[in-house]
Amino acid sequence: MRLRDPVWMTNFRLHHRGATRYRSGPMFLAGDAAHIHSPVGAQGMNTGIQDAVNLGWKLAQALRGTADPALLDSYEAERARVGRKVLRFTDRAFTAATSTRPAVRFARARIAPAVIPAVLGVRPLRSTAFRTVSQLGIRYRRSPLSCDEPGAPRRGPRAGDRLPDAPVGNTTLHRLTAAPGWHLLLCGPAPAWPPDAVASLTRPGRLTVHRVTAADGGGPALRRLGLAPDSAGLYLVRPDGHIGYRAGGGDLRGLTAYVSRWVG
Ligand SMILES: Cc1cc2nc3c(=O)[nH]c(=O)nc-3n(C[C@H](O)[C@H](O)[C@H](O)COP(=O)(O)OP(=O)(O)OC[C@H]3O[C@@H](n4cnc5c(N)ncnc54)[C@H](O)[C@@H]3O)c2cc1C
Repeated sequence: MRLRDPVWMTNFRLHHRGATRYRSGPMFLAGDAAHIHSPVGAQGMNTGIQDAVNLGWKLAQALRGTADPALLDSYEAERARVGRKVLRFTDRAFTAATSTRPAVRFARARIAPAVIPAVLGVRPLRSTAFRTVSQLGIRYRRSPLSCDEPGAPRRGPRAGDRLPDAPVGNTTLHRLTAAPGWHLLLCGPAPAWPPDAVASLTRPGRLTVHRVTAADGGGPALRRLGLAPDSAGLYLVRPDGHIGYRAGGGDLRGLTAYVSRWVG
């Protein structure tokens, strides 16, 4: 193919660099300033936006002085690992797409066109590929903010995972938790939750409590969260949509400690 008559041309310099620290005292790095790489895979802008979302609510809480100052350290703990992973992924994808080595060229021209459609034809593999490229599969399970109590449900999303979506009556989990602030989902039979204890957890404008029960059309959401319709569990969802705390049963003591430390 021959290209001709360009309307506009520019030099584009490819970078492959990552910051060693995302925080130094009161300064934070986000976006391309923290990780810059080849555009292959279309990851840069999305990674930068997720950095900003992760940092934004933590800065807001720090400015209000409502939470443990260690909340700001969790930004680097959660996002630096994601930045390093994106650098590795884009570097490999760029090498595969542009290498002139005969073996790579053969694989790109002859093997990939046959193998990629076959792999993407398998639903679980397609789902994994989608969750990776869309960055919806990013999770912070090893973060200091992620807490799974020993009695937490064995199935479903864990602390650090992004809250999945599912219908709840005439709304959905994501719509229910869309307003700014933390959201506490009390799941299962109503008697499990003592009203006084629940009222003491509410923080107007900062923490909203919701009940999700099978009787109110929350069956699909309970299943998605790994709960049987008659068992109780609770999920504290962070302002960025990730689960911070998860427990089974109706014991609110662990949750109370978590809330007073991280929500304030
Ligand atoms: C060809 C190409 C294609 C891409 N395609 C995709 C894609 O499909 N999907 C995707 O997710 N990402 C893509 N990206 C990556 C994406 O564009 C970047 O990751 C994103 O723009 C980074 O945003 P940022 O705000 O972190 O940095 P930038 O967009 O670089 O913004 C930084 C800003 O700071 C300004 N600035 C710098 N120094 C100073 C200073 N001293 N004082 C004041 N201002 C300053 C700069 O002028 C700039 O406006 C692509 C990138 C390229 C190059």
